[in-house]
Amino acid sequence: MSKRRYQAVLNRQQEMLMPLSVEDYVSPNNVVRAIDAYVNSLDMEPLGFQHSSVSNGAGQPPFAPEALLKLYLYGYQQGICSSRKLEKETHRNIEVMWLIEGIRPTYKTIANVRSHNSLALKAASRDFVLLCKELSLLGGEKVGVDGSFFSGNVSKEHIYTEKQLETQLSRIEQKIETYQAALDEQDKTEDKAPLENTTEIEGLEKKRECLKEKQAEKIALQQQMQTAGDKPVSSIDKDARLLSKGGSTTAGYNVQIAVDEKHKLIVAQEVTQEGNDKKQLYPMLNPAQSILQSSNLAGLADKGYFESSPLKYCEDNGITVYVPIPAASKRIADQGRLTRDRLTYDKKQDGYICPQQHILKRYGKLRVINNKNHMTYKSLMSDCKSCSEKANCLGKNSKVKQLTRWEHEEVIERHAEKMKQTPTEMHIRSSLVEHPFGIIKQRAGIKHFLMRGLEKCRGEFSLMVLGFNFTRVLNIIGVQTLQDYCAQR
Ligand code: SF4
Repeated sequence: MSKRRYQAVLNRQQEMLMPLSVEDYVSPNNVVRAIDAYVNSLDMEPLGFQHSSVSNGAGQPPFAPEALLKLYLYGYQQGICSSRKLEKETHRNIEVMWLIEGIRPTYKTIANVRSHNSLALKAASRDFVLLCKELSLLGGEKVGVDGSFFSGNVSKEHIYTEKQLETQLSRIEQKIETYQAALDEQDKTEDKAPLENTTEIEGLEKKRECLKEKQAEKIALQQQMQTAGDKPVSSIDKDARLLSKGGSTTAGYNVQIAVDEKHKLIVAQEVTQEGNDKKQLYPMLNPAQSILQSSNLAGLADKGYFESSPLKYCEDNGITVYVPIPAASKRIADQGRLTRDRLTYDKKQDGYICPQQHILKRYGKLRVINNKNHMTYKSLMSDCKSCSEKANCLGKNSKVKQLTRWEHEEVIERHAEKMKQTPTEMHIRSSLVEHPFGIIKQRAGIKHFLMRGLEKCRGEFSLMVLGFNFTRVLNIIGVQTLQDYCAQR
């Protein structure tokens, strides 16, 4: 059975008047040679790319996905992400002509590849991380985790909150009622001047129908909001969210990366809809650990990642994490009141010892707070009654001190002790994880998604990460070494 591919338009070796061939335009250390070698080393079908199996049917087969992946990898490396701009490059950029052998797909075809191959792009990005591992470019000991808000392909005005939707719906209803009243009025006068009124009635009916369509759209959005758990929804990109940090709001997604310390290569990435990073520590470190196959992985993240359950998951899976503990009780301390850390847990007695050396004993059943089991501890009224600290220790109307303890609180206590013993571990965090975001956003100029929808944005972010890692590897080992390795891979 003969294998057929989309016919190459250009022969790289074909002699021309000036210069002799396209090959002569592309220097031996040109980045496109590395892209060509890497993508040629991939097996596109298991990665899940559409049209990766060869066609034997009638007519011209579709473009080979290899060529389009090469085009995208080149584009995301050079900060050319728009499919229209990439189409232009296929007409005027000699490197691109060499890379994709002269084919000229339209912007629509180029856009469809990115849009329909999200999982395959993620798999290709992962494959490149594995290649980095094969080349011993990953240390596998320390990984930094960080997140950033990326704008989606939607404006803030097109993401609605429950209140906004209610206001807009009531305005639309009012307008519909006004038009309906006007139509009823016209009905009454119809007998008197039937011909004069016809155009006016048609105009009013059109406007009313238009408003009814808008009303149906908003009602559908309200239903979507209920399904999403009363979170803001968008009519343009239903998955984008309003994300707020430091007083500014972004309409888009929260992207996460895990960066290996050795050469600052991204080993895991994700796009989420979460407005904060609290739940992201384990979901980022777990895939990083599975790629690095490390038995002594350490994960560094800022205090925004501090959350008790992920700390436990990491500990259970042999990942040592360094995350500063937020000063949750600062406000209480500022008021001169007694903070929780002034009470120490005594394992033997299963109770807390207060600064006056009295014990808070466990009582009652387990209570579920934020989906986690907690035990309750209470002081004796007789101890607190005569205590000199009681004004700073007890609540306004409380006669005893009461606090709760998570059933796995010792995980946090061990974590706090570890953070105290290793104060310098956090020093490298910012230089480790902020570097890739800086490069992606500033050097490559990629600050927002072109795709709409969570899955498609995940595919697009995989391209951003692949472009970043590829450039970094070329800077470390050079074009020739990567080319040689891919040739024998
Ligand atoms: S008020 Fe009660 S719990 Fe608080 S320090 Fe005094 S004795 Fe201890």
